[in-house]
Amino acid sequence: MSVLLCLAVLAPQLASPADTTPDATIDESLDHLVVKKWLQWNHQAVSQAFGAAPAKPYQVTVNASDYRSNSLVPWGQVNRGKLTNKIRLVINPDATYEQLMGDWTAYHEYSHLLIPYQGWGDLWFSEGLASYYQNILQYRMGVLTQEQAKQKLLAGLQRGIDNNSAPHLTLRQLSRNMRKHHAYMRVYWSGTWYFWSVDQTLREKGLSLDQALDYLNDCCAQQSLSAEQIVSKLDDYSGSDLFSVNFRRAANSRELAINKDTWRQLQMMEWPRQDGDQRGYLNIAKESKK
Ligand SMILES: [Zn+2]
Repeated sequence: MSVLLCLAVLAPQLASPADTTPDATIDESLDHLVVKKWLQWNHQAVSQAFGAAPAKPYQVTVNASDYRSNSLVPWGQVNRGKLTNKIRLVINPDATYEQLMGDWTAYHEYSHLLIPYQGWGDLWFSEGLASYYQNILQYRMGVLTQEQAKQKLLAGLQRGIDNNSAPHLTLRQLSRNMRKHHAYMRVYWSGTWYFWSVDQTLREKGLSLDQALDYLNDCCAQQSLSAEQIVSKLDDYSGSDLFSVNFRRAANSRELAINKDTWRQLQMMEWPRQDGDQRGYLNIAKESKK
């Protein structure tokens, strides 16, 4: 499994136009044609969330991995900068374009760009969004089928449910001590469930998380916000307290728990669907009150 690290480092960089692929720094030992094509692909992928790339510019650095690594993309990292975000990807120099397209790591890292997160605090929130969208983007780019995307999410949620070594800690507390407790799965997938369930509720109302992120991009792409500040903006989009109520519930949770009826429905439903097609979405809010 790839090791991911999402760091926040304030390092102002030169801006680059957001509507084109960014300047990339690529190791000399790598095949530049392959890597540039892949970066173009990734840029296209992140544009699938709300129809355009995130407004804040980003730069990419691609390094070659040690040949001893079995992974195609053994490392991914996002550094938040004042003017420009930076993504660093480490890839196996033997990886083909097709293999790189099929690896989830870049979809995950690019998904971090979808919110103007300050880079620290409530890590579960940022990692949850990236873990949710990595599957959506792979589906929208045709890398995963609808069923595969859903199964990957369900498998991840199950890992999160099973990873409960620190039930004395809330999710917010655990996010600060994730390494110490080896609690990556509960942190990442509790966050994923937050976004998945909120998205379901939004779609029942004819709204969507895609649109919410678009709204956030329009208002606040150049800002550096805490998770709670982002949630407040997302509430403005939804015209309700949906995001903040669920945020507090998730942050204070001591396990990732999904009731059996909801789980069964998740297994049965077709997911995901594009905007305007509400099939395949549950009313989680109603469901969770049972
Ligand atoms: Zn991440």
